[in-house]
Amino acid sequence: MIVEQNSNIHKILKKTFGFTQFKGLQENVIHNVLSGKDTFVLMPTGGGKSLCYQLPAVMLGGVSIIISPLIALMKNQVDQLRANGIDARFLNSTLSNTQLKSLKEDSISGKVKMIYISPESLSKEKNLGFLKQCKVDLIAIDEAHCISEWGHDFRPEYRKIKDFISPFGNIPIIALTATATQKVRSDIQKALKIETAEVFISSFFRDNLVYSVRPKKDAKREIIKFIKDRHGSSGIIYCLSRKQVENLAGFLSLNGIKALPYHAGLEASERAKNQDAFLNEDVDVIVATIAFGMGIDKPDVRFVIHYDIPKSIEGYYQETGRAGRDGLSGECLLFYNPKDVSKLSKFGQDKTVSERDNFLVLLKEMEAYAKSSVCRPKLLLHYFGEEMVQDCSKCDNCKRKRVTIDGEVALLLLLNSIRLTQEKFGIDHIIKIILGTHDDYVSSYEHDKLEVFGKGKDLFEEKQLWEDIIRQSLIAGFLIREDFSTGELRLSKKGVKYLDNPYAINFFKGVDFSSEEFDTDTTELNSTNGSGSGGAADNQLKILLKSLRKDIAKKKNLPPYVIFQDPSLEEMATIYPTDLDQLSQINGVGKSKAERYGQPFCGLIKKYTEENEIITGNDLVIKSSVKKSKNKIAIIQQIDRKIDLEDISESIGVSYEELIKELEAICYSGTKLNLDYYIYNVLDEEKLDELYSYFLEAESDSISLALDEFEEDYSEEEIRLARIKFLSEVAM
Ligand code: ADP
Ligand code: MG
Repeated sequence: MIVEQNSNIHKILKKTFGFTQFKGLQENVIHNVLSGKDTFVLMPTGGGKSLCYQLPAVMLGGVSIIISPLIALMKNQVDQLRANGIDARFLNSTLSNTQLKSLKEDSISGKVKMIYISPESLSKEKNLGFLKQCKVDLIAIDEAHCISEWGHDFRPEYRKIKDFISPFGNIPIIALTATATQKVRSDIQKALKIETAEVFISSFFRDNLVYSVRPKKDAKREIIKFIKDRHGSSGIIYCLSRKQVENLAGFLSLNGIKALPYHAGLEASERAKNQDAFLNEDVDVIVATIAFGMGIDKPDVRFVIHYDIPKSIEGYYQETGRAGRDGLSGECLLFYNPKDVSKLSKFGQDKTVSERDNFLVLLKEMEAYAKSSVCRPKLLLHYFGEEMVQDCSKCDNCKRKRVTIDGEVALLLLLNSIRLTQEKFGIDHIIKIILGTHDDYVSSYEHDKLEVFGKGKDLFEEKQLWEDIIRQSLIAGFLIREDFSTGELRLSKKGVKYLDNPYAINFFKGVDFSSEEFDTDTTELNSTNGSGSGGAADNQLKILLKSLRKDIAKKKNLPPYVIFQDPSLEEMATIYPTDLDQLSQINGVGKSKAERYGQPFCGLIKKYTEENEIITGNDLVIKSSVKKSKNKIAIIQQIDRKIDLEDISESIGVSYEELIKELEAICYSGTKLNLDYYIYNVLDEEKLDELYSYFLEAESDSISLALDEFEEDYSEEEIRLARIKFLSEVAM
């Protein structure tokens, strides 16, 4: 039975979803669900939670109800499922009467496999009444942290889900979330009465994400360069205030970056419009407050920038998790300015004392992250209670030459100070003892009389350095801090052992943001250009495929990634599938997708391989290098497809200036080029008219003469582009 089920789920994984392998714990989760048991899934954003209920829903005979918080999120998932040939629908107030009628008929008849619904809609008697007429055999609660007041997106109706679903009887429930704290977890299980559910927790480590922190000095300029270096990649920039969002979005647009703002102060229609523009790749960058994000399933977000420091590590991890969901690289860049933290600490005056304390504790942890020299993912995972043995080797801290200090004596002193104060105090107090700082609080406990009082001053005078040592001792497991609100430090077994058996140990000095190394740009640090998988792909073909995908998506009115995701295109540009059979071997391409969208892609690849003399075989792929003489064909093809000149120059590996020269050469050798799609973006009509009339009347088409004529009104590039247009239209 299990063996049979096993081969079945693998078949469906490939045939319907187009994946060759399960990710992480997906397979175990799916078996658990299919055996009729309740299931609790904790996976990081991008971990692949959806498949955990979607695949069982496809296999089970009846209808599965998927409870999900946002209409945008539902639509997104339903679009993707339907592209895979699965009958999924959503049930919400946006449906027309006709849609509703067909939904009802098709669900009762058993045609529909999945119904997405929000808890608010589920609470409506008329919806519940109809759902009870269907054969419901699975209930999934996605983004289940919304149940908990301790989660960051609390939704009161979520708490009542148990009441709504109890009439469906004893069917399996699966709850899924990316929020890792124990409190949230037990809250969810209690509220859904699934305390006995099998719990699946995957590692929160996302090895495709690269973390770094920069001082916030010349941040705007750095951001421009960062984005331009990753030409055309999708990214999100988070700011704390609406005003800052508007500012930065405007600034980016002025500097030629396609960016739009998103925050709760915008009209709902404008928000939706901007979000769609981002999903459909009409803009590359969305500048947003944290109002943006939940419900954004865009898999190919290549970078997440935090222009302002976030309020907590929970939020930060969730937000950066939106990068690289497709498994290709994602860069997470945070700009840090101590002043931002002190400004923020003044917030929350309207909160109760305990809420405010909590707020400050979370903020302090966030700041400690920014200042730390520890491997970034290691620190983040430690915060969520997970130990990472090896460093990631990719983050800014791993890449930087860090200052290490000999820490044996310091660690002994630290452990002793904690022990001598009965393990009842937090970081600040322990540092006061070590450095011998007198204050009322210290003397009220008579800690100034301890033998360790002030003993650390001779070792290191800096308070910050001691904080570095304490925090690294926590990560290394010498210390335990269970309760963040009191911050009490205790010795672990490892810490106790160390007191008896000390050994040499090094600590890293925290980041010095004023040091010279930060005067250079981080953008060199990890400019991976968004391609994380070996680089075997043919860049030029990839651009053609992307552009084809965009055209098809536009026609079908779907976001491009619903057609095929980036990793699939990347693979196509590596193994050159030229028929549907070969295409459906590609990861992410199921049978249905291949049939539905595959033909034009195969056609394009076939033509491309012929034109570029690429030999493809079943297993054997030989890529001939695209020689310089081939550039001409490549350029003309790409211009036919209206690809931006920057992209073309990147794909054929020449500079922009060289490309313009190539274009001129093409024109002069008698081929007309229609660059209107591009020229009108960079030059307004009036300017173009002026230049055009100039060339019509000028004695010669010499660029230097034109430059003299217009002095500083136009750049050389503008003049050259206008001349290409002129040559193509008039002179041939
Ligand atoms: P989560 O809900 O956990 O944030 P998703 O379900 O949205 O994650 O999945 C994240 C990405 O991983 C999606 O782009 C999805 O297509 C991809 N994915 C899911 N399962 C697999 C798999 N088995 N193999 C390859 N990619 C997968
Ligand atoms: Mg999800």
